[in-house]
Amino acid sequence: MLDTLAKVVIIGAGFGGMEAAKSLKRAPAAVTVIDRQNHHCFQPLLYQVATAALSPADIAWPIRHILRKQNNATVLMAEVCGIDASKRLVQVDSVTIPYDYLVLATGATHSYFGHDEWANVAPGLKRIENATQGNRVK
Ligand SMILES: Cc1cc2nc3c(=O)[nH]c(=O)nc-3n(C[C@H](O)[C@H](O)[C@H](O)COP(=O)(O)OP(=O)(O)OC[C@H]3O[C@@H](n4cnc5c(N)ncnc54)[C@H](O)[C@@H]3O)c2cc1C
Repeated sequence: MLDTLAKVVIIGAGFGGMEAAKSLKRAPAAVTVIDRQNHHCFQPLLYQVATAALSPADIAWPIRHILRKQNNATVLMAEVCGIDASKRLVQVDSVTIPYDYLVLATGATHSYFGHDEWANVAPGLKRIENATQGNRVK
């Protein structure tokens, strides 16, 4: 039965990836969500963690827990290191994962608009680790 289902691989379990996965709940598809972290992070509240108004646990939820009732979804914690679009394969460590449809939802990084020297005084705030590492102005 699983072989007849479309294989959908979603890389990234942020807002984009989670929304894509949930929207496929009733689709005839085998959905695989891959993220290098085990949790979904609610980024808009990172400032509150950075200022100690909230703890990291208040803004992070295990991806497996969020999708626990979605029978057609599998969650993998792994770093995607390559994609072979011609063969429709995702490379994770030494393992390859085949797909029929691929959703890339790996987010964005901050930009200093050509002023990388600003990084020391304006560190990025995209992950829990960024919010908890403290101010390390040199
Ligand atoms: C501090 C802050 C405040 C914000 N406030 C607001 C707000 O008030 N209102 C609003 O609308 N938006 C806000 N945003 C923007 C909003 O949070 C982001 O646009 C949104 O979270 C982006 O979602 P995403 O799914 O594109 O990416 P992300 O949430 O960044 O998710 C990307 C995921 O991909 C995973 N990933 C990346 N590369 C790999 C890889 N190679 N292998 C495996 N996994 C990988 C990451 O681990 C991550 O889980 C804010 C953002 C920040 C940082």
